[in-house]
Amino acid sequence: MGADTIYSLSSGAGRAGVAVIRVSGPKAGAAVKALARRMPEPRRASLSRLTHPQDGAAIDEALVLWLPGPRSFTGEDSAEFHVHGGRAVVAAALDALGSIEGLRPAEAGEFTRRAFANGRLDLVAVEGLADLIAAETEVQRRLAQFHSGGGASAVFEAWRGEMIQVLARLEAAIDFVDEEGVADTALSEALPRLAALRDGMRTKLDDQHQGERVREGVRIVLAGPPNVGKSSLLNRLAQREAAIVSATPGTTRDVIEVHLDLAGVPIIVSDTAGLRRGPTDEIEAVGMARTRDTMAGADLVVWLSAPDVDSPPPALDSEALWIFNKCDLVSGNATAATLQVSAKTGHNVDVLVDRLSTWARQRFASADSALITRDRQRRAIEACCAHLDAATGTQGLALELVTEEVRLAARELARLVGRIDVEDLLDVVFRDFCIGK
Ligand code: GDP
Repeated sequence: MGADTIYSLSSGAGRAGVAVIRVSGPKAGAAVKALARRMPEPRRASLSRLTHPQDGAAIDEALVLWLPGPRSFTGEDSAEFHVHGGRAVVAAALDALGSIEGLRPAEAGEFTRRAFANGRLDLVAVEGLADLIAAETEVQRRLAQFHSGGGASAVFEAWRGEMIQVLARLEAAIDFVDEEGVADTALSEALPRLAALRDGMRTKLDDQHQGERVREGVRIVLAGPPNVGKSSLLNRLAQREAAIVSATPGTTRDVIEVHLDLAGVPIIVSDTAGLRRGPTDEIEAVGMARTRDTMAGADLVVWLSAPDVDSPPPALDSEALWIFNKCDLVSGNATAATLQVSAKTGHNVDVLVDRLSTWARQRFASADSALITRDRQRRAIEACCAHLDAATGTQGLALELVTEEVRLAARELARLVGRIDVEDLLDVVFRDFCIGK
């Protein structure tokens, strides 16, 4: 890797004020010289007239940055051309770069891949960077920033560092294991440290999956019997016609989703087929099975009742908010539900949104520094804890076996940050990247 010099448009495709074209690799300096016909000072923006290296035709007036490695994003010699963001300008600049021997268009995620290969970012930071680019809400942005900036990696590295210290002592003791008391002394020092480390890791695992939820979107499900007004309420929430509203029970058969940003937390609200006993036809039965799946995966169920529908109070395992819809049909306080709304008139829908925002804010209060954003990360830490459990378990393993478990535990963390065994992971991690990143 790195023999080729790669280039691509790194800003979004389409017409814009400015477009940024990045170049990285051994010929980045030559590319600057070929187009700008001079070398700007390193790391200083300079205005240059770009010309085509083959025929000298003018391309554009551009801001040029020369970023020699290793202090660049990729760690390689790099350059940026900030050209006017018209399609033809970008096309001409890319064409000029493509005409230079040894330059080729970058593949998706290739800049970041090089940054990883050159040790500029570890794997967790790479994942954070993908999330930062994808972030749509404030909490997502803060969480992604924490990860891409190395905040989570620092914790993982500290855990690994402690493990390696313990490991070094255990390995030293193995050399003298024949001497009286050496094994016992080493173990009595190591085991409490390993147990404390494992407990700290478990505390972090026990985080209600805040990081994963924020990254993927928090699920709120509107549930209740047919005709209570779930679709109508969803439409209100979306302020657009997202679901089919119908007066015939059982027509909202598919799960429909609306994406909201509540207090910076990304929320996916889904409308479900009504739950009722004894579905009358097969399609409805399928819809209800899907509803139960959706409810089981919900972070919050909003259970609806209505005065004109025989609707039992919620009997739910998940966290739930019980609301009474169609309050325009009745006068007075007719229910034990916590909030009365009308999807039809919009009464109290703003209060409902406030409640949901408060719930999201409280439930995800510490999400912007959550250590885990992906299943891959969670599994690695769980596997690490399992090895530490084995090392510190009551069965009292021999020194050599404890040492081996600690070695395996440290390996899991090395894999987590991408120090070892990355080959099979890279394609998965970089799948989220597009060209120019
Ligand atoms: P779903 O089956 O739970 O999704 O219910 P829908 O949203 O399809 O609504 C069923 C019927 O109740 C429709 O005729 C809606 O117009 C009506 N409806 C929904 N919300 C309200 C409300 O707040 N007040 C009144 N009066 N009718 C409503």
